[in-house]
Amino acid sequence: MGNRVFICGVGFDRVTAKEAEDRLFAALDGQVGQLSLFTPNPEIVELACRDPELHAILNSAGLSVADGVGVIRAARILGDPLPERIPGVELGEAMLAYCAAKGKERPVWLLGGKPGVAEKAGERMKEKYPGLFVAGTADGYFDETQSPQIVGRIASSGAVLLFVCLGAPKQEKWIAAHRASLPGVRVFAALGGSLDVYSGEVKRAPAIFCRLGLEWLWRTLREPSRIRRLFTVPAFLRRVRRQKRLQKSKN
Ligand code: UDP
Repeated sequence: MGNRVFICGVGFDRVTAKEAEDRLFAALDGQVGQLSLFTPNPEIVELACRDPELHAILNSAGLSVADGVGVIRAARILGDPLPERIPGVELGEAMLAYCAAKGKERPVWLLGGKPGVAEKAGERMKEKYPGLFVAGTADGYFDETQSPQIVGRIASSGAVLLFVCLGAPKQEKWIAAHRASLPGVRVFAALGGSLDVYSGEVKRAPAIFCRLGLEWLWRTLREPSRIRRLFTVPAFLRRVRRQKRLQKSKN
């Protein structure tokens, strides 16, 4: 058995949350090469099926984890279960805590969210993790012509951890396009709405929702416009079942 489970061709690392953290901490310490952290959900896997560029980018991840129940369920259907669901927002916070303990030796940079969100997230995380060195922030509403300037600011800040929270697939594509220009960054974390959570703008689902695998329901109730995302889940599960049938007919 390899160390990745492939769901519709998109790889997910067979790791526990603890193993994922250890791999990220080793990357932050410079013990492994540059690493991108992605957390593809059913909607992104479906997109990747129609977008070979996105497909290749997702599979270039140094660490790819299942943040949602849809992917966990798909792995189970395929008879190749993943150890556990790993919320990206928690991995991100664990990295912030780790960097805080090393102060200015581990600067972090926060890119994404509406104007003011990344800054507020930085302030709140500094209060929670004294010692955290936020070397810069920028909102996520820029056009590609502004990217070189943002990349320049990140490069000169000495950041080793970069949050890229632009929503999928924009964040994954942004990382793929710019990672070579940022050799000092050791971990690129594509973590969607995490800055909204760290800033306090968005509340995470109560523990009971998370335990029951219903975080998606909580988020949809709070942000009804997210409902269209759920419509991709049945198509995703149909694709997974087709993959299962194909596997069976090969064996
Ligand atoms: N966002 C951004 N730039 C954009 C589009 C979105 O910075 O052009 C931000 C948005 O403000 C939000 C995050 O990206 O903070 C996407 O959050 P979402 O909850 O949709 O993340 P996902 O569920 O895709 O991980």
